Amino acid sequence: MISRNSKLDLAAGYLRTAEHVVVFTGAGVSAESGIDTFRDDGGLWQEFPPEQFAHWQGILQTARRNPRRLASFVVHVLKPVAEAKPNAAHLAIAEAEKQTDITVVTQNVDGLHQEAGSTVVREIHGSLLEIVTLRRQFVRLLSRKRLARIVRWLNWAARSWLAVPLIPFALNPLAGLSWRGVVRPSAVLFGEGMMEPDWSDALADSCDCDVMLVIGTSGVVFPAAMLPFEARDNGVHIITIDPEDSGMGELWLQGTACEIVPELMKRAFGASDEAE
Ligand code: NAD
Repeated sequence: MISRNSKLDLAAGYLRTAEHVVVFTGAGVSAESGIDTFRDDGGLWQEFPPEQFAHWQGILQTARRNPRRLASFVVHVLKPVAEAKPNAAHLAIAEAEKQTDITVVTQNVDGLHQEAGSTVVREIHGSLLEIVTLRRQFVRLLSRKRLARIVRWLNWAARSWLAVPLIPFALNPLAGLSWRGVVRPSAVLFGEGMMEPDWSDALADSCDCDVMLVIGTSGVVFPAAMLPFEARDNGVHIITIDPEDSGMGELWLQGTACEIVPELMKRAFGASDEAE
């Protein structure tokens, strides 16, 4: 059996000789920034079933029948994102851009790759920090400070039935009526199309790169999970980094994103300790 050390060296060699690297990330890359994955034990979908909270129809129904529960869901989603900072894995990926051509394709909606300094980021599932119209025209970006304020107001408004009428006001910077019509975060809900042009660009990048690093994704959310298979069909080396083996890669580096990514980038490019 090939040792962990040899696997890291092999993966580093692939990265060093690649002309274009795609880093494809999922919820796991942000877990060590304090944003839990949704599917793990005790994850968000156990407390808030996706049928009620991840589809427009379910959300509108919950808003009518139980606005306090909807407010509590929004708080559960927003609070960790409002408080998060890029971790060592996000930073090492951004730092490696100085050494090679890297495109980040992320399923995450937390904006942490950009905050770490990555400059080419395809957000195929949109973002909680980007507010758009119903036709997905850009309206504004929200800061984490602003998200934290929304969380505080929602927490307060959800506390008693008397404050329920204030929930729409608390939510308004995120979703509601504005001078541009109805606005919402660009984060993609179940049943909605992928963000464009990010998705088409991500498909093209996946076929065009030499190496794809797949970090912290279970590969069960489609169509996003197609990308490593598209890449593999085009002869791309697929390296997965995850505590669990998703079976997607030719090389699996077992461990968390923060354990593996900085070490891998250091072996590949001599990345500075600053990123760790
Ligand atoms: P998933 O929940 O299906 O899988 C998470 C994967 O991360 C698992 O394979 C798990 O073993 C792995 N993991 C857990 N901790 C890790 C760590 N510290 N380092 C590396 N890997 C770790 O996630 P998914 O495949 O991304 O699909 C979930 C969907 O939910 C995505 O579409 C995503 O948009 C959304 N989501 C986003 C965020 C976020 O923006 N941070 C958080 C949760 C969910």
